[in-house]
Amino acid sequence: SSVAVVTGSNKGIGFEIVRAMCKRFPGDVYLTARDPGRGQEAVAKLQEEGLHPLFHQLDIDDPQSIRALRDFLKQKYGGLNVLVNNAAIAFKVNDQTPFAVQAEVTLKTNFFGTRNVCTELLPIMKPYGRVVNVSSMASSSALGRCSQELQKKFRSDTITEEELVELMTKFVEDTKKNVHEKEGWPNTAYGVSKIGVTVLSRIQARMFNEKRKGDHILLNACCPGWVRTDMAGPKAPKSPEEGAETPVYLALLPSDADGPHGQFVSEKTVQTW
Ligand code: NAP
Repeated sequence: SSVAVVTGSNKGIGFEIVRAMCKRFPGDVYLTARDPGRGQEAVAKLQEEGLHPLFHQLDIDDPQSIRALRDFLKQKYGGLNVLVNNAAIAFKVNDQTPFAVQAEVTLKTNFFGTRNVCTELLPIMKPYGRVVNVSSMASSSALGRCSQELQKKFRSDTITEEELVELMTKFVEDTKKNVHEKEGWPNTAYGVSKIGVTVLSRIQARMFNEKRKGDHILLNACCPGWVRTDMAGPKAPKSPEEGAETPVYLALLPSDADGPHGQFVSEKTVQTW
């Protein structure tokens, strides 16, 4: 039996990804949320439409919660077919929280939390599995505002996960010392966290090529577009349903597809990184 998991799916784009997957994915679809109350409420909403999502708690900031989900998936399904890493946070532009705190908190969830989910769940991906890491166009624009030296590192085809983790940690440290701009970083915690997600995806795709050639797993990062959600506000042009289109396209790439893989995808189109 096939199984799909969407992180942070009690609302926004994640919720719409679950709704679309319930209609199109031939297997069990797990709506996950850090708060079980908000999660169950979201499940009930889809049940009213005649859809049948299942629920599992998942807080990507909590290693115990991630491991509990991994153990559950291994035990009940023997692995995982589709993983959509959608959960993330963003401070509002006018938020007065000190930048160093914003940097630490944003990186913690968007980069380190997403990475921790991958560390536990990528090893249980089944052949023909699909992994979608929801990044953002903010990653490409932040990349363009990094120093040439940092850009070279983030575009490298040989950067390792450890080197990426070191760089993301350095960003947070640099903001605490208020030397991040001098050190070549752009002034955006969210943008840097999403650079981390896009580069991590490129590294993970390479890892699958090296370690699991023949398993036909496809892994990509994507941007959903600018979408009306609690994160982006009511002025964005896309509905949450439209925002789900590219992530769902990547989650449901047919079994005979040999790409995209290791790409950054927007509007169902591979972007240059
Ligand atoms: P949203 O409406 O704020 O939803 C974010 C979801 O992530 C919520 O379900 C939230 O749960 C969950 N979440 C946050 N921290 C979590 C954690 N530690 N563990 C588990 N779940 C957590 O945002 P959205 O606009 O739908 O964003 C979805 C994805 O698209 C994000 O990766 C975002 O960066 C990306 N994106 C959005 C836009 C846009 O225009 N909206 C543009 C580019 C990229 P709670 O309800 O518990 O907070």
